[in-house]
Parts: sequence; C-alpha cells; structure tokens
Amino acid sequence: MPSVIQVPAEAQASPHFDATAATNAYLAQIPADKTARSDAYFEGGYWLILWDFLYGAAIALLLLNLRWYARMRDLAERATRFKPVHTFVYWLQYLVLTTILVFPLTVYEGYFREHKYGLATQTFGPWMGDQMKGLGVDLVLGCLLVMLLFGVVRRLPRTWWIWGAVVTILFSIFTGLIAPVYIVPIFNKVTRLNDPKIVDPILSMARANGIATKDVYTMDASRQTTRMSANVSGFANTMRITLNDNLLRRGSPEEIQAVMGHEMGHYVMNHIYKRLMFESIETVLAFVYLYWGLGWALQRWGEKWQIRGVGDTAVLPLVFLLASIFSFVFTPIDNTFTRTQEYEADMYGLNTSRQPDGFAQAAIHLGEYRKMSPGPIEEWVLFDHPSGRNRIYAAMRWKAENLKLFAVQPTNAERK
Ligand SMILES: [Zn+2]
Repeated sequence: MPSVIQVPAEAQASPHFDATAATNAYLAQIPADKTARSDAYFEGGYWLILWDFLYGAAIALLLLNLRWYARMRDLAERATRFKPVHTFVYWLQYLVLTTILVFPLTVYEGYFREHKYGLATQTFGPWMGDQMKGLGVDLVLGCLLVMLLFGVVRRLPRTWWIWGAVVTILFSIFTGLIAPVYIVPIFNKVTRLNDPKIVDPILSMARANGIATKDVYTMDASRQTTRMSANVSGFANTMRITLNDNLLRRGSPEEIQAVMGHEMGHYVMNHIYKRLMFESIETVLAFVYLYWGLGWALQRWGEKWQIRGVGDTAVLPLVFLLASIFSFVFTPIDNTFTRTQEYEADMYGLNTSRQPDGFAQAAIHLGEYRKMSPGPIEEWVLFDHPSGRNRIYAAMRWKAENLKLFAVQPTNAERK
C-alpha cells in the first residue's frame, strides 16, 4: 500500500468534479494484489467467527457429557467450602482449561495468520507474553464478575436474572472506566502527544467542537501490529482520544485531522453512552434468555451432566455455551449498531475537519485489513464500519457539495 496517498486527478477540485469518478480513482490506487490480499484476510475472518463458535460449542458439549466440569466443581469443593474462594478455584480451573483447549485457534488467528498477512510485528515470545497478561486480566476481572453473579444467584434464586443483568451492566461501566488508565497500559505504553505540529490543529478542532481537553494521547500499537487506528475510550473523567503511532507515522497531516474529526464525532455525539444503553438492553435480553435457557437445559440434561442447579459453579460452562449462541446470533445486530455510529462519526468528521481527501486516504490505509468493496448484504451482516468504498464515496460526495471550499482550477478550455 502506498504510504502517502496522492489526490488523483479525478478527485482534484474542478467544475467537472464527479463523486463516483473520484471514488473509483482513489480505489484504483490500490494495487490489485493488495486488494486480493486484504479481501482474503477479511473474508477469512467471516469463517473464523463460525469456526470459533462451533469449536467452542463442541468443546463445551464434549466436556459437559464427560462430566469434567462437575469433577472440577468437586475438586474446588474439596479445596474449600467457603463459597467465594470455591468460585475462584473453579474459575481458575475453567479459565486455564479453556485457554489451553482453544489455544490452537488462538495461536493461528492471533499469531500465524497475522504474520502471514503482514499485520503482526511481534515475535513469538513477546506475543506469548501478551497472551499471559491477557489471561491474568481475565483471571482477575472474570473472577470478580463470576463471584458477584453467583452471589446474586444464590441469594435471589427467583429474580437473579434481573439483578444479574444490573450487576453485569455496572461491571461493564466499571471496566470501561478503568480500561484506559489501568488495563491498556498493561499491554502498551500510553503517552501524551506533545508535537505542536500535530497537537495544535487537533486541539483547535476540539475547542471548535466544545470538547474540553488539553491532551491527546498516543500509544505504541506498533509493538503488536502495523494497523493504523484511533479511538475514544473511557467514561467521564477517563474519557480520552488516543491515536496509535502507526497513524502518526504513516498518515499525512490531512489524514490525521480527518481521523481526529471522526473520533470527535464519537465524543460529541455521546456514542459511548449510547452504546452503553444499547448494551444494557442486550444484557437484559441475554439474562432473560439465560433464565429460560438454563432452566430448559438443566431440566433435560442437568442430572446427566451432574449440575445441581443455577447456583452450582459447574453451570458456568453451560452459561458460556448459551451466551456464545446468543452473541453469535446477535452478530449482525451488533455490527449494524456499531456501523451506524461509525457512519455518523464519518459525517461529523467530514464536517468538522473538512478533509475529504485525508478521509479517503485514511479509508485506503484501513483497507490494508478490511475489504474495500463488499456486497450490500455482506456489509450489513458482517461489517462493523462502513466499507472503504462507501466511506470514500461519502467523502467525495461531501467534497462535490462543498467545492467552494477548495480552489477550483479552471481547465484550459475554460480559460479561453
Ligand atoms: Zn469510529
């Protein structure tokens, strides 16, 4: 992929500017072999959603029928009768066993496949180190949530699904709040950006949009990946915009401003809070489904799997199995919710940065790991961002309708 993308002749401001021709000219800058490669990478990802789901479900069903999970519970009970510690011991066994069993898929998806497509920058040792750190985070946070939920189920056997949903929502607010400050730095170095050439235009754009911030953050994503990206994370006091060092190093100033305009759109339109509302509804639905699904499954197979009831820790793998079915089915809905927010942020970003060409350049760079021109149903079901083609077209349409902002070069014919 070219590092700095030029504005093609068809996308230069002119009285004959045509958004479709400009879009096609941008797309034509991507060499055919690169398109084939990123399409193959992205389409492979569709299949991985399916294989991950099927493999996880097969393991869960196999071990349920072999009664391994019940044996793990017996082991945890032998270790201690004190409920919270018992839950911790069970969670530790379950997490370690599951991590080992899915490791072949994890290492293929996270390491070999990323290297094959030139997206990874880590050798095996540091990659494995990150995996261990991730396991540590899951151990602590997962254990906390599981302990809270079992506490709720044991105390409120009739209404646990309501309170379980409330606890889960509060827990996700808590992790969202601490993530940028305590979790991201476990994996990457986060620093304040201080190059005035980059920071000043961003802060001026922030002021123009009523965002009270004095800092823009950057992180060394290049430690793991070649991907360019930026995001808004955190809640309330910890909310911040972070752009990764790949974007900083490879993006043109126009491109960085276009991306920052997009991120500010997320910020100003309260996308994080709207997402929280959406996820809260989804969480309540998931708990209603779990209440029903667990009752149904335990009545049929509870005895065979030696699970005593919903308050028994041995039920946990069944909960994850049912949850994985739920999230698999919800994939298109989740994607569509996210994609809609991303489109809103795209429009906001164009209006505030006024960098349609920078935005088109960013879409091309993001196309290193995304399919640029999917079919409409494919985009609806499987894309959590608008496709690259649609993003470039939206930018060029914006440019066509705001041509007065750009110096229009008269053609020779018109000069005469
Ligand atoms: Zn976004």
